[in-house]
Amino acid sequence: MGLKLKGKTAVVTGGSRGIGRAIGLRLAREGASIGILALHEDKAQKTGAEIKALGVEVIALGCDVTDYAQVKAGVEKVHRALGSIDILVNNAGIDKVQPFVETDHSSWDRIIDVNYRGFLIACHVCIPYMIEQKSGNIVSLGSDAGRIGNPGEVLYCGTKAAIMASSKALARELARYNIRVNCVSPGPVRTDLWNNLHEGEKGEKVTEAVTRAIPLRRLGTPEEVADVVAFFVSEDARYLTGQVLSVDGGLTMIG
Ligand code: NDP
Repeated sequence: MGLKLKGKTAVVTGGSRGIGRAIGLRLAREGASIGILALHEDKAQKTGAEIKALGVEVIALGCDVTDYAQVKAGVEKVHRALGSIDILVNNAGIDKVQPFVETDHSSWDRIIDVNYRGFLIACHVCIPYMIEQKSGNIVSLGSDAGRIGNPGEVLYCGTKAAIMASSKALARELARYNIRVNCVSPGPVRTDLWNNLHEGEKGEKVTEAVTRAIPLRRLGTPEEVADVVAFFVSEDARYLTGQVLSVDGGLTMIG
């Protein structure tokens, strides 16, 4: 690791916990200033303090990605304090496992709003800064669930596929401004999200079965996803745009 991102500012949505926290720490180790936008201000600030201890500038804010005005105000604050918006990592996301026919249709909006509308909002707010400076990098969290489908995750899979499809369209629209747009598509990663969905004995059994299906025979870590995000936003990936890369120990191997 070096200081490949010195002078750059990265906005990480859902940067307080799990994969988002690891991404903030990883990009900070490359010298980037970090703006964390997460639902709960106290959690954002706790992780913000950890990142600050690495010696970079940090703005950590409570911000619901489903609320356009909050995201706009949050990104403006980051821009004012840190000077630019060079990198956007769309990471905030939620999941709920339930057979589709048993879902209450009134519960659909929240997952669509957080996962997909949140992605659209953060892109819509950040892209004008990137167009203005004629450079930028957007990396979004897709999911293998959105590439191959998972039972009990009809809504989640749809939102993740939408993020991956819209990222490709954005990559085509924004290439002329020197803005690259890519997705990482994790397989199972041990975070609060995974643990909450796989509680108890039944959950452990599912985790064991999934582990057996992964060629590298273990779940991923948040840091392993963060390393790939750091690659995508680095100069080493300067000729990559519109790509989706699975980070899953070989679970899906999509061509
Ligand atoms: P966690 O549940 O551990 O963390 C979720 C993060 O999103 C938290 O920082 C949370 O903030 C934030 N968040 C949730 N809702 C909102 C909102 N409305 N506005 C702003 N921030 C919000 O999740 P993971 O780290 O596991 O997942 C991160 C991303 O990776 C998600 O997009 C997920 O779909 C994707 N992913 C995860 C996989 C896994 O196995 N873990 C596999 C494939 C993809 P707060 O702390 O304030 O609650």
